[in-house]
Amino acid sequence: MNRELDKVGRDDGAQCLGVEPSRLRSLKRRGVDDGSDSLYDSAHMPKAQQTRVSRFSIEARTAVERLPFSAPAFLTCAAAGDMKPQEPLHAPGAGGETPAGETPAGDPRGQVFAAAGAAGKRLLSVKQEHTREVLTAEEVAAYALERGAGSRPEADGIVGDDPELLLAVTVADCMPIYLHDRRRGAVGMLHSGWKGTGILLGALELMCRRWGSTPSEVSVLLGPAIQACCYEVDAERARGFQTEFGEESAVQRAGAWYLDLQTANRALAERAGVAEISVCTNCTCCGEGLFSYRREGPEGYRRMLAAVQAPSGNTDE
Ligand SMILES: [Zn+2]
Repeated sequence: MNRELDKVGRDDGAQCLGVEPSRLRSLKRRGVDDGSDSLYDSAHMPKAQQTRVSRFSIEARTAVERLPFSAPAFLTCAAAGDMKPQEPLHAPGAGGETPAGETPAGDPRGQVFAAAGAAGKRLLSVKQEHTREVLTAEEVAAYALERGAGSRPEADGIVGDDPELLLAVTVADCMPIYLHDRRRGAVGMLHSGWKGTGILLGALELMCRRWGSTPSEVSVLLGPAIQACCYEVDAERARGFQTEFGEESAVQRAGAWYLDLQTANRALAERAGVAEISVCTNCTCCGEGLFSYRREGPEGYRRMLAAVQAPSGNTDE
């Protein structure tokens, strides 16, 4: 894509995705249920010339799995990384940012950060609400400064370029999506379940506005999530998903409907012009060693923490 950056800025970033700004805003704003206007089918979304798609699986034998990505990226998938649903991600008094090196002795989070090689980094997270909202790290930090320690803005994605920060989300069947602008060094961390699907476009758009990122230079990793083998939904939700993200984003077997988050997000990334996509083949629900809301149930489920860090001082520029 050869669009000029100043034009991108004036157009609210949407032009770098090949999407009319009004359509992108519409996609970000509404959920699947109230959407009859399919952005997926838009003739305005060009397909990437060459999209490299690679697949990988997670062994889940250690507390922290480093993921094959162009920026430091990890996922917790053992007891030491357990983030209980009620357990805040912040150290008390940290103002929305956890000084990882200061987590109390015995705190599993301290082990996580140490195992990730991220001791001393600060953790940034948001109050996840299954939205398509993405904020910059500066916005998340500013919110905590204004509202007081531990307060987090409602959003489901963070983008940033400060190597001292870990951008994090928690997941348990929803998909963690990692982004990295290989040229500019900026990264993104998203929480994307069925309702939030499409947040990937919002993140690309924000990276475009903030750093001039173009999707062809952004690597996207679709992390472990519940897959079409297990993600049964009712027909109405499946059809809504298909309407918005394409026929193949839901499949029917023996009279039941299943969502395919991987296919939906891969299609979104390809059509936005992302040239490099890694897809995790593990299913959180029927695979081993991963945490799953559906398998473990609403009372006892555990969460995995997914985090990405901007590489320090080694962008291509
Ligand atoms: Zn499965």
